Amino acid sequence: MQSAVSRTLDWIETHVVRASLAKAMLLVIGCTLVAIQAMAISQDLIVSKAAIRDAASKRADAALNMLESVHTQAMTNRKMIADGDSAIATLNGTMDQFSGESKDVKLWVVMGDKIVAFQKKQHAGELETARDAVDAATLSSGEPQSVLNGETLRLTRPIKLGQGSARMKSCAGCHEGLMGINSGEVMGAYSAEVNLAPEQAVWASQARSETARSVFFTLVTIGILFLMLRIVAFRPLANLTAATQKLADEQLDAEVDYSDRPDEIGKIARALDSFRLKLIEKRSISAENNYNAYLAQHDGLTGLPNRLQFNARLDDAILAAQGSNRRVAGVIIDIDRFKYINDRHGHEAGDAVLRATASNILHTIREGEFIARMGGDEFGAWKIFANDQELEEFLDRIETALAASVTIHAVTLKPIASIGVSIWPDHTRRREQLINNADLAMYRAKADIRNKRFMFDVDMDENARRRSELVEDLAVARRYGQLSVQYQRQNNAESGEVTGYEALCRWTHPKHGAISPCEFIPLAEESGLICDIGEWVLREACATGARQSAPIIMAVNVSAIQIGDVEFPRLVHQILIDTGLAPSRLEIELTETALVQNRDRALHVLRQIKALGVQVAIDDFGVGYSSLETISLFPVDKIKIDRSFIQDIESHAKAQSLIRAILLMGDSLGIPVLAEGVETQSQLDFVRAAGCSQVQGYLFGLPCNEEDMRAYFAQVDAKRGSVAAVPRRVRRKAA
Ligand code: C2E
Ligand code: CA
Ligand code: CA
Repeated sequence: MQSAVSRTLDWIETHVVRASLAKAMLLVIGCTLVAIQAMAISQDLIVSKAAIRDAASKRADAALNMLESVHTQAMTNRKMIADGDSAIATLNGTMDQFSGESKDVKLWVVMGDKIVAFQKKQHAGELETARDAVDAATLSSGEPQSVLNGETLRLTRPIKLGQGSARMKSCAGCHEGLMGINSGEVMGAYSAEVNLAPEQAVWASQARSETARSVFFTLVTIGILFLMLRIVAFRPLANLTAATQKLADEQLDAEVDYSDRPDEIGKIARALDSFRLKLIEKRSISAENNYNAYLAQHDGLTGLPNRLQFNARLDDAILAAQGSNRRVAGVIIDIDRFKYINDRHGHEAGDAVLRATASNILHTIREGEFIARMGGDEFGAWKIFANDQELEEFLDRIETALAASVTIHAVTLKPIASIGVSIWPDHTRRREQLINNADLAMYRAKADIRNKRFMFDVDMDENARRRSELVEDLAVARRYGQLSVQYQRQNNAESGEVTGYEALCRWTHPKHGAISPCEFIPLAEESGLICDIGEWVLREACATGARQSAPIIMAVNVSAIQIGDVEFPRLVHQILIDTGLAPSRLEIELTETALVQNRDRALHVLRQIKALGVQVAIDDFGVGYSSLETISLFPVDKIKIDRSFIQDIESHAKAQSLIRAILLMGDSLGIPVLAEGVETQSQLDFVRAAGCSQVQGYLFGLPCNEEDMRAYFAQVDAKRGSVAAVPRRVRRKAA
């Protein structure tokens, strides 16, 4: 970029040099103009000087003519009046008069040595008076010669003796000198002298003012030209240079005008502007790159570092702790029931919870500690610490930050988070393992209602290993006939009569033996195997139900994943057709959690299932999140009170109140209530007294296979048969 700038600067510099050249040329042009003006003026002056001289010589010539005629007249007069002096006097007078009128022309006549009779008359110039003269006719004048001497122009015309030849005059003495004069011989001269001083003075002042004027006009011309050049070229160039300098200093707000000019300046401006745009583009690209780099390392929602950066910085932290007595704690934090927050209050609320959680933790972070969003509702943190106390203090701080409530749209949420911790190098020396361990500890905390912070221990790792082993085995369990279905009775609370059976899946593991559905069903849900297993159980249960002569209800547990599948109603329909079970004899059991997890979808699917004529029961009622809402929203045919309430009947008054409340609610909504897990007579007595219409539990029977079910029915039928043979009165007595 720098080289491009310097190139542009060079370019501009070239143009600045050109501008300087233009300035110099302007100066030269000015000087030339002045010189031309001066030459023109001097030419004018020469011409006008010649004109002055010409006019002066004409004046002198006219004066000479006059002098000549006056002289000739004087000569003639002299001859006629025979008085030379008076003729001379006339000449003198005339010359006096002339000189009086024309001050600047002086006239005189000079006769040669041979005419000595002429006298000088001082007052009429240097006039020599002819005492005697030749005939006027004998005098002739030649071409005048002019001589400029300083400020005076003298015109001298020679006087020659005419053809008539000189004649002797009366005064022999006077004529002595004329003797020997030949015709055509120069014998004197008329002279006229003109004083050119005034003309020359006028001429000089004229020359001065002319020169001044021309200099003035030249300067004005140069000034105007310079001003024009300044406006047209110098100032734009200076502005462009300043703009380029600004660009070189990376000030991209540099304004580049003149782009629409068609000349060189326009070219520079356009080049500079495109250069500026490129710089802006480059800068925005680099800003974008920086932003992309930032995005690659940060989470968009919370602004926290992401998993990528977390891992890199954790590697650094482990490196920094190596060789010292310090350790590194890897922490995984997960918000409990986050999905519920999203489903119940909307994604906006979910986002707000994540942002608030992030910001709360971030504010507690100190030197040597790190927090990141790992994805979803999971956060990661680490700390380099020297003793357990430091770590405890750090974890307390995080827990306090997590305990803060979040208010969104007037709803205050108090999210609970589970924290798992693992220590380097105590638990592992590998970063990946450290995070896995913390994750396992976090899951342990999630499963616990009271303790929300767990330190990793080796058992957890064992557990995890067992879980992944079980998932692998579960995938092939059905193929190897390890799965089976057992059925547990549901009885009428009053009569004890069997109203239906609940199908419960069983897995007999070749190595571990019977594995509880409480363990393998969640694994099946996590791994997605539940769809396959669930379909199989449903088919088995329906087939079993259809095979029974008694019109019992067949209850089948359906998981959240199954109810979230829009194809599920079609599958149920198909199974009912295939097995021949009447839809009214099938009851699907769903937990509240399964329903609220994907409320809209569940509602949609459930309505379709209901439309088939299938019954719907809410399982584990009371331990869910929003029992009232579930009941009011979903089309429910039966409520199954969770067995934990029944187990607590004897010891907890609260459990009794809750059971009564549920029964009251069921009664008011017209929904029958079944009590699960009834093991003792007193429990039965209580629920029966409270108004429970159905019961299920070990008191009535353990889950059994189909054969046991049949045997039971056969037994009941047999009993009925024998009872039917006994008269009614006896039966009442026996009861
Ligand atoms: P659940 O649906 O609440 O099923 C009732 C559970 O309570 C059964 O445990 C049953 O054996 C047990 N039970 C019945 N009476 C008593 C009693 O008086 N006292 C006690 N302590 N327990 C009693 P099980 O068979 O171990 O099933 C556990 C859970 O596994 C079930 O709870 C159900 O949520 C799930 N499950 C079982 N089979 C399936 C299945 O095919 N599909 C799905 N999705 N879940 C299943
Ligand atoms: Ca159930
Ligand atoms: Ca249950």
